Amino acid sequence: MGDIVSGKGVKFSELMGFLRASLAKIPEHRRGENGHYQIADAGQAAFSVFFMQESSFLAYQASMQEKQGRNNARSLFGVAEIPSDGQTRNLLDPVDPAALAAPFWATYEALERSGALLDYRGATGTQLVSLDGTQYFASQKVHCENCRVSVRAGRTYYAHQVLLAVVGAPERPHVVCLPPEFITPQDGAEKQDCEQQAIKRWIEQQAGHFAPWSVTILTDDLHCHQPVCQLALDHHMHFILTCKPDSHLALYEELRLLERVAGAISTKTVRHWNGRHHEVWQYRWATALPLREGQAALRVSWCELTVLNEETTEQLYHNAWATDHTLDETRVEAVARDGRSRWKVENEGINVLKNRGYHFEHNYGHGDQHLSAVLLSLLLLAFLFHTALDLGCRMYRAIRQKLRTRRKFFDDLRGLTTYLYWRSFQHLLSFMYRQLELGPPPID
Ligand SMILES: [Zn+2]
Repeated sequence: MGDIVSGKGVKFSELMGFLRASLAKIPEHRRGENGHYQIADAGQAAFSVFFMQESSFLAYQASMQEKQGRNNARSLFGVAEIPSDGQTRNLLDPVDPAALAAPFWATYEALERSGALLDYRGATGTQLVSLDGTQYFASQKVHCENCRVSVRAGRTYYAHQVLLAVVGAPERPHVVCLPPEFITPQDGAEKQDCEQQAIKRWIEQQAGHFAPWSVTILTDDLHCHQPVCQLALDHHMHFILTCKPDSHLALYEELRLLERVAGAISTKTVRHWNGRHHEVWQYRWATALPLREGQAALRVSWCELTVLNEETTEQLYHNAWATDHTLDETRVEAVARDGRSRWKVENEGINVLKNRGYHFEHNYGHGDQHLSAVLLSLLLLAFLFHTALDLGCRMYRAIRQKLRTRRKFFDDLRGLTTYLYWRSFQHLLSFMYRQLELGPPPID
């Protein structure tokens, strides 16, 4: 990739280049000529539907092609020949979704080079990577060979789950999507087991993209166990994992013993003014606690934060974490702050799949092999590209801010591309920028 965006902003055409490059590398699985070309067309076509948040985008562009002899699917998304939904389904169904990991990393690296991720550091000084399992498909009828099948009360349920990985920071509104890891039927039936298998694969495959000890993994209590912690340490990653009493009996048992020894558990209390009343933030921490029973137990640090209303003493917040970060008087606040940021990251990442208008339920259907996973990867890439532009392209960011709501922005994008032809996404942005009278265009 060289230094296409070095010291400059992030451009849509460069991001599309990342996607096109990996689609072009996908091995031929169809007989016939021009296979690569067709797979790339199908991938870019499906991507365009997600990026525009318009399920009829391709139909509008096919009609523009008839009337004007040109269309935006080709100029903006590189779709040489608009495939039918059926063709797209057939072309993408056999594709291994792992083939789409590269554009996630290329985008991440472009953001790093542009400096857009400089303030994406947690309070611990590391980048926070949240790993969360979620379901993205469920049906009692539609299914494929990679569906997870369960039977409840005599009824058969089909579902797909995925482990989402996102980079987030406490004060930043966006999350940056990293490649997801799909949970397969072979990973087992239990939520904990199958997600743990996916976490294992994710860390083994992706940890090498980060500098040693530059990242902290965040998960919920379900994965706050020795295999995940050990795996993170083996791959030179820190962890801050939610740690609840019911699921960590040995750790809390030892903690109860320490509570009887004066000074064995460190404490710190800080008063915060929240604009209406004072809050009391109580920290407690201890080190070298066993993560499980037995001789081979990994020893971890533990900290807890309780927030109380000073006047009413009502408890406003409580959580506890296991971590490998050093804890002391100053570090404990940073660790708790980073641990707390997971809920936001989880919401941001998972909300995208559920209600951000990305039209996951397009009429491509479910496929027989990998289609639903390939489509989800393309949807996450569409989300990532919008995030990358918001973080790394000043013109895009100015337009988004001026239009205020997400809905307005996408309505305008849809309207402009339905009726008018654009040579490039940059031209479309420049037009919007001028019409909104945002001043001299930024140079980046
Ligand atoms: Zn399926």
